Amino acid sequence: MAAAEPIPGPAEVNSFIDDMNAAYEKVHVEYEKNFWSTKMGLAGASADELARTKSALDAFLSDAAKLAAVRKVLAEAQGLSEEQRHVLAILEKTFKTYITEDERAAQYKERLNQLEAELQQHRNNMALGYTVGGAFTKASSVQLRNTMRTSESEEVRKAAYEGLRSVGPHVAEKFAEIVKLRNKLARVAGYKDYYAMKLEQAEGFGMDVLFGMLDELERETRPLMEQARKTLAEQKGEAALQPWNTGFSLAGDVEKKMDPYLPFADAVDVWARTFAGLGINYRGATMALDLCDRLSKYSNGFCHWPQPAFYKTDGTWVPSQTNFTSLATPTQVGSGRTALVTLLHEGGHAAHFANVLQRSPFFSQERAPTSVAYAETQSMTLDSLAGDAAWLGRYARNSKGEVLPWAIIEEKLHSTQPYEVFMLRTMLSVPYFEKALYELAEEEVTPQRILALADEVEARIEGGPAPRPLMSVPHILSDESSAYYHGYVLAEMAVHQTRAYFLHKFGRIVDEPRVGQELADVYWAPGNGEAFLDLVKRLTGAPLGSAAWVKELQTPLSKKLEEEKHEYEAAVAAGPAIPPGQEPDLGMRVLLVDGDETIADSAQGGLAKASDTFKQWISKKWPAKETVAA
Ligand SMILES: [Zn+2]
Repeated sequence: MAAAEPIPGPAEVNSFIDDMNAAYEKVHVEYEKNFWSTKMGLAGASADELARTKSALDAFLSDAAKLAAVRKVLAEAQGLSEEQRHVLAILEKTFKTYITEDERAAQYKERLNQLEAELQQHRNNMALGYTVGGAFTKASSVQLRNTMRTSESEEVRKAAYEGLRSVGPHVAEKFAEIVKLRNKLARVAGYKDYYAMKLEQAEGFGMDVLFGMLDELERETRPLMEQARKTLAEQKGEAALQPWNTGFSLAGDVEKKMDPYLPFADAVDVWARTFAGLGINYRGATMALDLCDRLSKYSNGFCHWPQPAFYKTDGTWVPSQTNFTSLATPTQVGSGRTALVTLLHEGGHAAHFANVLQRSPFFSQERAPTSVAYAETQSMTLDSLAGDAAWLGRYARNSKGEVLPWAIIEEKLHSTQPYEVFMLRTMLSVPYFEKALYELAEEEVTPQRILALADEVEARIEGGPAPRPLMSVPHILSDESSAYYHGYVLAEMAVHQTRAYFLHKFGRIVDEPRVGQELADVYWAPGNGEAFLDLVKRLTGAPLGSAAWVKELQTPLSKKLEEEKHEYEAAVAAGPAIPPGQEPDLGMRVLLVDGDETIADSAQGGLAKASDTFKQWISKKWPAKETVAA
């Protein structure tokens, strides 16, 4: 990747920036490596090392002497260049986010890191699964959710739901302790509660601004939710409203029909060609993909950056390093689609962070002051393509190369379009739950009250017990991802607004290289150096709002079918920009791994070949089930 010009301005200021960048890189890389090894259950993984390196990273970020040093340079250095000022400003902003004047804060943080590491292990060691006829089947939470969506037997689906519900009582006691301590930490830092603190640090605005937007969305979509529940009960019977039946009654059949057209074994290749067709380039990055589920593995897909991308002050480019995980069981119905959506999503985060073109890793790291909504807008815009007829007509093909038939897309739209609002309400329930949780008076924070509160919010926002019980959402437990889920809701608003903008401007998104270019130039290059709401306005020309999303939900099925049929026909006629088997150029080295094992490496013969090696590994490890005549 081409180097940039060295930063102009006094050389001693550049040395100061270099030292700060290097010191930050070190604590960041060490913590992230431990984060990966513990979440993936690698050999030698240690909860103690994770807690130690987390504390070292926290100590770095909350070091008041560093903030003072940055301010001294800003105030006293002569002849600072514009570029130097921009870097110093993000250093100041980042340190300010983590520094609390009160001594008790450091003590609370230390204790929280320990408690969270314990909770993580307690949760990982839980015998999660479902019991039918007295027999217990082990299953991760992702497997339980898949089982609920796909099992023909209501008894099994109900047991899987109860398996998910069992997470809450298992974690509630330790979690209550953590909630109380998080609020104490927030109060000594001068905030009303923990949610208010996290929000201000991550997004730079307050609870009134956030819940102003969310309350409006809640109001406007409540009638749609009520109507959707009524329609569901009328069409499929009252029982379909039971949390273990809803997902199955909506998608059970059509997912099975789609399954052969989104094979798990092709997911990496399809994702890579999709992104290359969008003109996305990773600027020399390296990415490790650990895609298959294992029992000891963390129960949510995620992507992180042991090495953030940046230009050094002398102009040398440092490409990003990414680790990326999903939880696929290749033989399970729906696993290919899930893997693809996760690849588009996490690969979207990776594309964003690999393209931050600033002079410090502070701009391209994923934590506060990086806005969650900003980060999620990138990944969710890209994973939204998997639902488009324009994408399915090009990329969804079975092992014989036949395209997914229109009739299946039509059936899917019939079964999902009237119920899209459920997804919105599921997302909304998490911020409303966490808001209520951190607003509880300290004496009310008990395991019983927390579990009851989750049920209350599910009833209020989702209309009844949720198919994904709130207490099984992994985000609420860990420090990094708690009080954070509103970011997905704001991002979804931005996704609809961004898509509407591109569709209006280019007439298409899939296989349109100007889309990747514009995302990189406007959304990605500045990193967290600019505010999320400003970037959305700059790209789309309008302030962020829920109008595009609500309009989408209100579109009558007949109109949606007509539009999508047209897109589908054009897609099939055109075919994918990069056909199967052709090498996609993403400017990236891809490693396919399974825990400690490296399965394939694109540095040896290219990505198409690595995808192929991965495919063979899958078929060996998960042989297709054959019926043997007795
Ligand atoms: Zn994400």
